[in-house]
Amino acid sequence: MKLVVMKFGGTSVGSIESIDQSTNIIVEQSKNWEAVAVVVSAMTGVTDALICGAETAAGGDEETYKSIAATLLARHREVIEKLVAQEEQAEILAVITGFIGEFSNLCSAVSTLGEITPRAMDTIVSFGERMNAPVIAAVLRKKGIASASVSAKNLIVTDSNFQKAMPMMDETRAQTQKVLLPLLEKKTVPVITGFIGANKAGSITTLGRGGSDYSGALIGTSLDASEVWIWTDVDGVMTTDPRIVKDAHVIPILSANEISELAYFGAKVLHPKTIWPVIERDIPLWVKNTFNPKFPGTKIIREPEAAEGRVKAVTIIKKLSLVTVEGRGMMGVPGIAARTFACVARQKASVLMISQASSEQSICFVIPTDSVPKVIKELETEFALELDHADINRVWSMDNIVIVTVVGTAIRSTSGLASKIFGALGAAKINIIAIAQGSSEYSISVIVNADAGDAAVRQIHAEVINHN
Ligand code: ASP
Ligand code: MG
Repeated sequence: MKLVVMKFGGTSVGSIESIDQSTNIIVEQSKNWEAVAVVVSAMTGVTDALICGAETAAGGDEETYKSIAATLLARHREVIEKLVAQEEQAEILAVITGFIGEFSNLCSAVSTLGEITPRAMDTIVSFGERMNAPVIAAVLRKKGIASASVSAKNLIVTDSNFQKAMPMMDETRAQTQKVLLPLLEKKTVPVITGFIGANKAGSITTLGRGGSDYSGALIGTSLDASEVWIWTDVDGVMTTDPRIVKDAHVIPILSANEISELAYFGAKVLHPKTIWPVIERDIPLWVKNTFNPKFPGTKIIREPEAAEGRVKAVTIIKKLSLVTVEGRGMMGVPGIAARTFACVARQKASVLMISQASSEQSICFVIPTDSVPKVIKELETEFALELDHADINRVWSMDNIVIVTVVGTAIRSTSGLASKIFGALGAAKINIIAIAQGSSEYSISVIVNADAGDAAVRQIHAEVINHN
């Protein structure tokens, strides 16, 4: 069966106009494919609103979640009244009202308890997708397409790591096929809730924020789809941030490794976990723009293109600090690095880059600036004795730095490319504070002062990407 799985993100299904547009795309594509399966996010901002309701309730606020419930009802009702067939409106509205009632009851319970567990939070945030899927399916029916909404809690089987659950692939595949194949065979388009799954006991879990892309990939792999298309609100993956570089452009083809680097280093186009399940099965993955559907978008494939060593993109991550633990007495002492990173982990700070000189006199790592105070405090407590004995001299941070990452196949093994990059920065008199032990040979990262960040990106874009 030639099947395409299409995932629509929040902005693609967040208003009357965008739902109209997205459903037109589905109608159009259902003429081109033997079967179409659709995965949807919540409407834009709905997940945030649900979280806000739950959190304020946990803080004892009994009002905010009620007004959120009212707004959510109004938003969905508006779409139903405009886009769903008259005779179906009451039924769909009842589904929405039911979910919103559950949301309010849970928030009320949370406010009584004064706390929210990750498990309760997952049920609460699941309502965004669970409200949207029945609406979209009804809109499709109005447009003449047989369609049924399907909750992914019956498809994606996960562990019980609430809020960041891991799918169990074999179970997910079996469930997905069992539930969806009969629908697809009778030409019914399933509209599946993104973002959510359930553990073996049937409790709702979520795959982490932005996880609907991942859901799309999981459904696509489980069904052995021919292609997976991620519909979003940009034309594809760009060579860089167009706010920084005016002639940034869409990259037509990227290899899986390249896009992984981009996902990791700040290009928020795709949830990083989306790529591997589909790529491992050689299913092409496309990123397309709902609001410019004629534009081909970006295609992601397993193997890099023939042109080895091409630089595809340059990205920047801002608001970072370089934390250094330094001291002469550290040399040869085992366990310092492990203890350092245990401190960072305890403070739940994510480390973007690590470097340790071979002299072993310092360990440096890059973390977001807002986690610096707590990390330094934790390190000072952990190493109180060593600091006292002057084995460690100080723990300090250099703030106002950014990481600029250049991505392209085999960048580091293509001679001359690294020097071209450093040459471009040198020509613009941009001082490099550190060079990353990049996370793969598909990228090279440099740390520069925040003031020089945008200039570094422009310089690399002009000299290395445009002049490839
Ligand atoms: N609605 C979820 C979120 O906002 C999942 C997604 O949209 O991908 O995180
Ligand atoms: Mg997203």
